[in-house]
Amino acid sequence: MTISGWHESPQDERDFPLSALPIEATEKPEYASLQKYVKEVLNQKDAPVCVAASICAAFQSVYGIKFSMRWLYWQAKKIDGLPPNTDGTTFRAALQVVTKQGLCPEEFCPTFPNWKDTTSTPKMEVEAAKYKLKSYARLTVGTLEEIEKSISQGYFVLLGAIVDSVEWMNDEYLIKPEGAFLGGHAILGFEYDEAMKYLTYEDFVKILNSWGTDRGRNGYYYMAEAYAKATQADLAGFKFLREAWAIEFFEKLTPELRGDDVLLIGIDPGHGGSLKVGGDPGAIGKFSKEKDITLAVSLHLDKALKRNGFATVMTRTTDKTVSLEERTNLLNSKGVDLVVSVHVNSSTSPDPDYVSTFIYAKGGEAEKCAELVQKELVAVTGWEDGGVRTGNLHMVRETKAPAILTEAGFISNPAQEEWLNENPKKIAEAICKGVCSYYGKNYKEEAKVDECSVWAREARDWAKAEGITDGTDPKGNVTREQVWVMLYRMKEGK
Ligand SMILES: [Zn+2]
Repeated sequence: MTISGWHESPQDERDFPLSALPIEATEKPEYASLQKYVKEVLNQKDAPVCVAASICAAFQSVYGIKFSMRWLYWQAKKIDGLPPNTDGTTFRAALQVVTKQGLCPEEFCPTFPNWKDTTSTPKMEVEAAKYKLKSYARLTVGTLEEIEKSISQGYFVLLGAIVDSVEWMNDEYLIKPEGAFLGGHAILGFEYDEAMKYLTYEDFVKILNSWGTDRGRNGYYYMAEAYAKATQADLAGFKFLREAWAIEFFEKLTPELRGDDVLLIGIDPGHGGSLKVGGDPGAIGKFSKEKDITLAVSLHLDKALKRNGFATVMTRTTDKTVSLEERTNLLNSKGVDLVVSVHVNSSTSPDPDYVSTFIYAKGGEAEKCAELVQKELVAVTGWEDGGVRTGNLHMVRETKAPAILTEAGFISNPAQEEWLNENPKKIAEAICKGVCSYYGKNYKEEAKVDECSVWAREARDWAKAEGITDGTDPKGNVTREQVWVMLYRMKEGK
C-alpha cells in the first residue's frame, strides 16, 4: 500500500464552510450511518491514489457502479499545483474534477494494471460527465463535531490524515498516534456512534479505507475523537486528522438512525486474548480454540441482530483479553436490555454432544429467552437437547439485564468441533432467531444478493428475451431438471 497519496489542500477563502450545505438545524443524533450505501472496500494496491479511491468509493455507494481511480487521479494531478513528480494529490483538485468534469466509470478506464497511464480519451470524458458531484464543503477538524453532523445529514465525509506505523498497521481502532509517521492518507467517513464511548475513549467515526479487506476490521477502521484531536508534541499545531470535506450528491442520502425505542443487546464473545499475555483461550479442541469460535459467532450475531433492528454492544470484537468484571461493567453501564454470552462447552471425554443454555435462576425473563434460543440452537445443529440450565456464572449473575449464556455443543467432540468451526454463522442466526421470537419480532433473513455479474448481463438479457429464464437469482445453483426445462423452452421457442 502507498501512504503518501494525500496532500493537504492549501487553505482558500473560497472554500465553502459546512453551512453552505443545506444542513438542517436538528440536534445531532447519537448514531448515524451510511453503511447501507457502501458497496465495496477498494484496494489501491501500490498506487498513490487514496484521494481518488475515497471519492470513487463514495461515488460507487451512490451510483452503484465502479469508478476509475486512475482517471480521477491523473485528472486531479493536472490541476493540483504540486511540484512535478510528486506522488499523490489534494482533495481540492480531485473535488474540482468530479464537480466540473464528473467521474469516469472503471469500465471505460480500468485502474489496474497500468495505473501510471495518464490517458483520458474523449469517450472517457463523455462517460465521466454522466456522474458528477453536486457540491462540497470544507469542515473544521480537531473535533468530530462537524464530521458527525455532516454524516447525520446524509453526507459522506472525505478525511485526510497522517498515518502512523502502529495504530493503522495493527488495529482497527485509531486512538492515539503511535510509532513513526508514514505519510498522508485519504479515507472516507460514513458512520459514527456515541455508544462507542463505552470503550473509554471519545466519539468514534467509522471510516472506509482503500487497502483491501486485510487491514483494520475487514477494511474498515474506527477513528476516535482523541485521534482527530491528537497533535504532534514537537510540532505545534500539527494535527493527525488534518482535513475533512463533506460531499453532496444530487441524490439525497438518508442515514440510518437508531431510535430511542431500539433494544440494545449486549453480545459477549467468551474468553479471548493470548495465554502469553494473561489472556484466556477458553476450551481447546483438536485444532481450534473456544475464543475464536465465540468471536466468529458473535461477529455474525452482531450483524444478524442489527439486520433485525436491534442495536448492539460487544464486549470485544478482536482477539483480546477482557476480564469478566470489565465485561459486566460495560454492559451494565450501557444499560443493555439483554445479554447473550457466547461459549462452547468442553469435556474430558470426546463423547458429550449436547447443546445447552445457561441462566442464573429459573422463573424470570432470562429463562423465557433461553428456552427460545435453546430451541433454535437444537434445531440448527440437530444435536442432543441439553436444555436450559442454571449456573452460578459471572456473566449471568452480575448483569443487571436478563442474561443467557449459550454452550452450543462441545469443542472436545471432534465432529462438533469441526462443525462449529465451519458454521459460526448458523449458530449466530439461530441465536438471533431466538432473540427475535423472545421480543415477538419476525426474524429477517439475510437478503440474497441478486446482482448479475457484468460479464453475464448480455447473456441474461438474451435468455430473458428468449423466454428461457426469468433472470432471477443469477448466482443460484442449477438443477438438472432446470437445465432440461431451459433447453426445452429454447427448442420450442416457449
Ligand atoms: Zn467458555
